[in-house]
Amino acid sequence: MSAETLAVLRHPGVLAVFGALIGSFLNVVIHRVPLRISLSTPPSRCPKCKKPVAPWDNIPIVSWLILRGKCRHCRKVISIRYPLVEAATAGLFALAGATVSNPIALAFTLAFLAAMVVVTFIDLDHMIIPDLITLPGTAIGLAAAFIGAAVEPRQALIGILVGAGGLLAVAMGYRAATGRDGLGGGDVKLLGMVGAFLGPAGAFLTIMIGSFAGTLYACLFLLRAGEGRTAELPFGTFLAPGAVIVLFWGPRIVEVYWGLFS
Ligand SMILES: [Zn+2]
Repeated sequence: MSAETLAVLRHPGVLAVFGALIGSFLNVVIHRVPLRISLSTPPSRCPKCKKPVAPWDNIPIVSWLILRGKCRHCRKVISIRYPLVEAATAGLFALAGATVSNPIALAFTLAFLAAMVVVTFIDLDHMIIPDLITLPGTAIGLAAAFIGAAVEPRQALIGILVGAGGLLAVAMGYRAATGRDGLGGGDVKLLGMVGAFLGPAGAFLTIMIGSFAGTLYACLFLLRAGEGRTAELPFGTFLAPGAVIVLFWGPRIVEVYWGLFS
């Protein structure tokens, strides 16, 4: 591939369009993987009237806006979450294009971001984090490290241990404090994957941010609902965006944090 072609492919605008298209696919993954439905068949159709969605009604973000969030045939409301997932993926891909210069590292970064978007919403919907995402994800993170497109291989290996081990410690602490199982094996495997991609410091910071955001949410929820103690927390919905924040701003956060003490 020529340098010019690479420069075009890496352009944040091009990556935003690519991200919107991938986001459209991620919507399908988020909906179908937990239900164990094939990703390719049946083709996209309206959940209410079952009419297939025509290609021109399936353009990321644009079609939803033109149709004003309703099915063309039965006018049933189409959740705003679909265009939001597409827009979020577009934004993250553009940000990655502006941040990561090595094309192979960029490809791995896009895969990591896509996985984090999927985990965020599947955990929110179903309170599960599929092994189908996190186990291959850990292997891909390791592969990236061993071909020199991410952290050092040793960092990736220690990252897996620190991520999974750290989350296990949080889970045990949570059980000791509340007497309930709040965190599952899915969270542990998710942090293994995050550690493979971001190394031990990245995994640690992800746990800190995820725990902080999750606790904050739980407190607000308790105040509002009154009986939030019975409500389970989709921890992955906080950890996965936490990992994305660490990916882009981790070193900056550490810098600011230490700056507070010196
Ligand atoms: Zn319909």
